[in-house]
Amino acid sequence: MGAARDSYEAALAYSQDRLQFGKPLAGYQLTQEKLVNMLLEIQKGTILAYYLGRLKDERKLRPEQISLGKLNNVREAIKIAREARSIPGGNGITLDYSPLRHAANLESVRTYEGPDEVHLLVLGQHITGLGAFR
Ligand SMILES: Cc1cc2nc3c(=O)[nH]c(=O)nc-3n(C[C@H](O)[C@H](O)[C@H](O)COP(=O)(O)OP(=O)(O)OC[C@H]3O[C@@H](n4cnc5c(N)ncnc54)[C@H](O)[C@@H]3O)c2cc1C
Repeated sequence: MGAARDSYEAALAYSQDRLQFGKPLAGYQLTQEKLVNMLLEIQKGTILAYYLGRLKDERKLRPEQISLGKLNNVREAIKIAREARSIPGGNGITLDYSPLRHAANLESVRTYEGPDEVHLLVLGQHITGLGAFR
């Protein structure tokens, strides 16, 4: 969520600065939709992380809840980083702006914290009672 938040903040700052047709990109509805959708997922993911952290402190956290948090937050963070990359346009492709760096890094996070498929299988087994691992 930290990578997602930095991507969002970089995109927001850029959109306030860059003028097109005499007004900032931030003043266009499509840009605002992107920014608002990013913020919604950042807030939800952060609340989820706090909630799971509290369960862990209370020693009540179950393995499938960890899969739920990792699957959701890393998946959403990658989406946010990619969406944030679009706001600086061509500049977003360069290493001068953080969102695409975060997106690339999050792809390795998405592997080393357990791939999506395995978290999906953990959750699928939990809700159906049927393991589909093999
Ligand atoms: C940057 C980085 C750092 C890492 N650091 C560590 C570390 O510190 N310690 C450590 O132990 N490991 C580490 N790893 C390894 C990481 O844990 C594994 O790469 C990861 O668990 C996936 O295993 P694998 O690469 O063998 O892929 P595989 O298990 O071969 O999986 C390949 C693909 O098949 C899918 N797949 C696998 N099994 C199933 C199945 N039963 N059903 C459906 N789909 C399936 C996977 O989801 C994945 O998409 C790191 C990896 C990276 C990229």
